[in-house]
Amino acid sequence: MHVSGVNRHIRVLDEDAINKIAAGEVVERPASVVKELVENAIDAGASSVRVDIRTDTTGISRILVVDDGTGMEPDDARLAFLRHATSKITSGDDLQSIHTMGFRGEALASIAAVSRVTLVTKPNTTGALAGIQLVVDGGEIITDRETGAPGGTSITVEDLFATTPARKKFLKRKNTELAHIYAVMEQCALAHPDIAFRFMQDGTEKIRTPGQGGLLNAVIALYGGEISRALVPVFGKMPYMRIEGFVAKPSVSRPNTHQIAISVNERQISSPPLVRAVRAGFGTLLPKNRYPIVFLAITIDTALVDVNVHPAKKEIRLSREDDVVREVTAAVRMALAHEELIPEGHGPGKTSRPDPSVYRGESAHKGVASPTTAYRADQTKPGTAVSPHRAFTTTDSRLRLTEGRAVHEGGPNLMPEMEIFGQVDGTYILAARKNGDHEDLVLIDQHAAHERVLYEQVLAKRGRDLTSQELLVPVVLTLRPKEAAAVRGARHMLMTEGFLIDDFGGDTFAVRTVPVVLGTQMPEGLIEDLVADLVAEHLKSADGRKERITTVIACRGAIKAGTVLSPEQMQRLLDQLARTENPWTCPHGRPTMVTFSRSVLDGMFHRT
Ligand code: ADP
Ligand code: MG
Repeated sequence: MHVSGVNRHIRVLDEDAINKIAAGEVVERPASVVKELVENAIDAGASSVRVDIRTDTTGISRILVVDDGTGMEPDDARLAFLRHATSKITSGDDLQSIHTMGFRGEALASIAAVSRVTLVTKPNTTGALAGIQLVVDGGEIITDRETGAPGGTSITVEDLFATTPARKKFLKRKNTELAHIYAVMEQCALAHPDIAFRFMQDGTEKIRTPGQGGLLNAVIALYGGEISRALVPVFGKMPYMRIEGFVAKPSVSRPNTHQIAISVNERQISSPPLVRAVRAGFGTLLPKNRYPIVFLAITIDTALVDVNVHPAKKEIRLSREDDVVREVTAAVRMALAHEELIPEGHGPGKTSRPDPSVYRGESAHKGVASPTTAYRADQTKPGTAVSPHRAFTTTDSRLRLTEGRAVHEGGPNLMPEMEIFGQVDGTYILAARKNGDHEDLVLIDQHAAHERVLYEQVLAKRGRDLTSQELLVPVVLTLRPKEAAAVRGARHMLMTEGFLIDDFGGDTFAVRTVPVVLGTQMPEGLIEDLVADLVAEHLKSADGRKERITTVIACRGAIKAGTVLSPEQMQRLLDQLARTENPWTCPHGRPTMVTFSRSVLDGMFHRT
């Protein structure tokens, strides 16, 4: 094969080529330029940073970053554009304890290699009379002159990627690039609440933070009241680390992880393990497909953090990652454990209704064995039961099975005391609770509430003796080959969970026992759901399967919607719920109860 232009002799590349190659790593897109320039301003001790973006039809035409930091002496300014020119470290050993955002000395060289940069800087000291202006085009200084300037630095970047058309082609639509820049600004503002940030786009102010310190101030400036009011403080302290910040109560959540902002030593990072750690702290307070809103600032001994693993410094390596993950989960869980987490209902006319996708948690479950496996329980109406009398006895025995002792002893009991008035449509319990001088209306979903009770009891009993109960009549199963194979493979695990299954060979099985909390009769749909889950591919891990089994037991074993309850039964159910660790949501993350405050009710009746 002949490739024209290939010279087989090895050469060391010239400075320009090296810079352009490095620029490919550091300056991926306009947002990377903003990030590097703002980080330089932060490192220069700025107390205010202004970012001004101009766009035209083709995209981002100009990026201007102005700071009131230290500024630079003329000689330093000329050096700043050289590769590996940095004032932040002097030797390799310094990499062990980085306290600045930058340290690689690459950003300015890289940016200048792929754009035209105008730098105006003046030392922020009383002695300095004039500043210097440098224009660097394609890496060459083309203008170098004295100029009047305020103390600090301003850097203008134009013609970005003009000389690297391949890179320019990969840029996304203008709005996508702007969104990336916005995200960079948000992250910087959150990681540095003590700096006043201002972000302008085509003359419009998009972000302005006060810079008076305090993460909460930055959050309020960026996201306003709704999120800020839902925040709960998080705090954790270990000898080598400190966790501070806020999580939003689960009534305000997101469908993705975009609102999870975690900084480590003032550097916003993207760390899947830490995101998982935070999510784990929410446990079943959120549906599977929802993510919390989180602002955490973690301070760790710099010796335990390696920041030199990503060219744009977005990722870090933590020496004691497992410990950090565990502490973060614990801190988040602890913060939520001390809060009353009943979501507020809204009256009509309010546009911000509780996020409807929260309620999709359950239907997200995909039954495989039969189309009827998807939570039919919820739809059962009164009258479906063979006779009202039977329905009552079943409910009574179900409540007796979950009477048990308190699963959750010692922890705070935050569920408010409530006065029960009745039941709506055999589904919702109607109650009132005291709230200061007033009373609030509370609606409780009886199925979700009992599901929560069962779920925690199964978890508490797991691994102890006497987990199973003989069924009055064994349930005979005839399965499809794929299902039969799945059940055979999981028989041992099912036994440890309380399901003793006889294998008659072929496609026939008999279930002889169930977990004690289910009593002596197999709840409708339970075994179908279990089999469907065993077949499902996505539940590969043993923990995932056990979790699903517990959820299925809770869902199928719980009192159904559409079951008429006596006042005494409703009271017993609420008493049991009050003894759980998390009375606020069912295992799928749906709320067990919703309140309507006196003021919301007043609004609904136009009473002002
Ligand atoms: P690094 O930040 O890794 O040191 P850069 O290429 O980003 O590398 O910057 C090179 C040097 O230029 C910095 O070490 C710093 O001394 C100087 N510098 C860059 N931006 C500023 C600024 N806004 N204010 C003061 N000094 C700056
Ligand atoms: Mg830098």
